[in-house]
Amino acid sequence: FRQYRRERTISLTDNTVKSATEKAIESSSDKILDGIEGCIGNTPLIRIRSLSDATGCEILAKAEFLNGAGNSPKDRVALSIIKAAEEEGHLTPHSGDMIYEGTVGSTGISLAAICRARGYLAHICMPDDQATEKSDLLLRLGAEVERVRPAPIVDQDQFVNKARNRALEHTVDPSKPGRGIFADQFENEANWQAHFNGTGPEIYDQTSGHLDAFVSGAGTGGTISGVALFLKPRIPDLKIILADPQGSGLFNKVKYGVMFDPKEREGTRRRHQVDTIVEGIGINRVTNNFEAGRELIDDAVRVTDEQAIAMARWLVEKDGIFVGSSSAANCVAAVQVAKQLGPRHRIVTILCDSGTRHLSKFWTKAGIIGGKDDVTMDEILSMYA
Ligand code: PMP
Repeated sequence: FRQYRRERTISLTDNTVKSATEKAIESSSDKILDGIEGCIGNTPLIRIRSLSDATGCEILAKAEFLNGAGNSPKDRVALSIIKAAEEEGHLTPHSGDMIYEGTVGSTGISLAAICRARGYLAHICMPDDQATEKSDLLLRLGAEVERVRPAPIVDQDQFVNKARNRALEHTVDPSKPGRGIFADQFENEANWQAHFNGTGPEIYDQTSGHLDAFVSGAGTGGTISGVALFLKPRIPDLKIILADPQGSGLFNKVKYGVMFDPKEREGTRRRHQVDTIVEGIGINRVTNNFEAGRELIDDAVRVTDEQAIAMARWLVEKDGIFVGSSSAANCVAAVQVAKQLGPRHRIVTILCDSGTRHLSKFWTKAGIIGGKDDVTMDEILSMYA
């Protein structure tokens, strides 16, 4: 303190001599993160003790819900899309430029937060059957929210098409200030690149490159493709496994090369609707982001709603880990893979978001935790719809 006082006194009388605080501010510290963007990435890798004990493998999970802007892996994606657009000259920070996106949740929340920090305005189109807490949150982050009727992807009113059309209208409407981009998380390859540049290298560092399988669901496909594209060339024996919820066509795409199981009856095909309570993963079309890494995916595991619910409850009961449905589905698949590989293998998966974002839908179904826990891991694995 005496030293500080002395330096401070000198700096008050002599402008060229800097105070200790001024010097500290100038020399950047890696213990201080710059703004909300600084809190994105470098997420912890957690050993899930109960699953590791139950399988004899080491089950590790990348805690993506600890990304600090919108609390999901979509923070990485939103920042990557925005930075790419800035570099290409389509967006100028603090200009009030518009960013349009069609999203049912996480990406909109990440975009809305980062838009505030960088001086943009987010316009989010979402189906009106989604939990209202998501649209409430978006409004409180200062986004414009347009709720549209649920519609298949072939319909121009479908939320992704609506957002694309809004962006197109904007760029031809001179009455609107600034410029606008369509973020386009499903097709924009800045999405998988965020995971290629962040999630993948971080997993490699955190495991020193020692892992046997990476397990992830796919919504846009950005996570599985970006991580696979980074890890597979560096760890040739690594297995990349898709965790796919019931009703999604990706399982069949990976297994048989077509979206629909040839054995499936015509009447049971669901072309555009993924009929599951698991949110965020599972889709019935092949996006650019999925296609980018598709050939690197070795196998797929089907996860039922029942299994995802049982796993979500298990993770709270045994580990105090409170997550959403896609994280639970990932963990079901990780345990299936552990059983296939046998003990003493290391499997990495993703915990995408917290259960707090799923209180009104998924966790209402999953119920209240407490009382006697009578589900075994073998029972969870044998739950098929
Ligand atoms: N979990 C949640 C909660 C999500 O919102 C998403 C993205 N829709 C995913 C997982 C899947 O990630 P990706 O889009 O990278 O395939």
